[in-house]
Amino acid sequence: MHQLTIKNLRVSYGNIKALHGIDFSVEAGEILTIIGANGAGKSTTLRAISRMVPAEPGSVLEFEGENILKYNTDKVVSKLGISHVPEGRRVFGNLTVTENLTLACFARKDTEQIKKDRRWVFDLFPRLEERKDQLAGTLSGGEQQMLAVGRGYMSARKIMLLDEPSMGLAPLLMLEMFEALKEINNLGTTILLVEQNARLALKFAQRGYVIENGSLVLEGPADELLNNPDVKKAYLGA
Ligand code: ATP
Repeated sequence: MHQLTIKNLRVSYGNIKALHGIDFSVEAGEILTIIGANGAGKSTTLRAISRMVPAEPGSVLEFEGENILKYNTDKVVSKLGISHVPEGRRVFGNLTVTENLTLACFARKDTEQIKKDRRWVFDLFPRLEERKDQLAGTLSGGEQQMLAVGRGYMSARKIMLLDEPSMGLAPLLMLEMFEALKEINNLGTTILLVEQNARLALKFAQRGYVIENGSLVLEGPADELLNNPDVKKAYLGA
């Protein structure tokens, strides 16, 4: 059984069809990336999984054999263990770093483990610990991105859905971010990453899909996609 199974996923916004019936699966423990241009449907795919947008009838979304469509967004996190780190660092700007991390655990009761997890997040991103009492809205863009990932990790971690974690980061910080994601994955969290930075995403992932205009058009091991002439031409600037 795949950890996540998506079949015939269709999503529309009003009369705009964003996803035309896509099929893909994610295996437990892997790093999978979906690459594609602006507006191709990457964010929509993640939003459908975390139930932030409705999937049309006939869409199949299953996580560990359970029908995701039975759950609302909160329960997708707390019952299924799926966290979603959205594009654009949505942190609570008027709360401190620590308060943001604590709030991510609102549905958890395992106080001791929460403390250990916070310790781990601070070890992963030492900058966050240095700024733990600072209001999140005053963090730099890169620091807010770290906080968004830390919050995701603390809320649920069977699988993390990451929407463009590299966005707006300077090259060095981008690498640091991907190293941190690798560490999270090493502890057993599956990663589903959508990225416009195709080269970086394919270097980091084991497997990838290419999405174009709401349809998946290619699938393969990440190193094959990196060497695929069509992918190179369209997404790798070669
Ligand atoms: P980007 O890399 O630019 O974030 P994306 O691949 O994540 O793009 P989506 O955000 O999933 O693309 O958008 C897919 C399509 O759905 C686009 O045509 C977009 O304009 C449209 N869309 C997304 N959100 C909405 C919305 N809230 N209302 C109407 N249309 C939307």
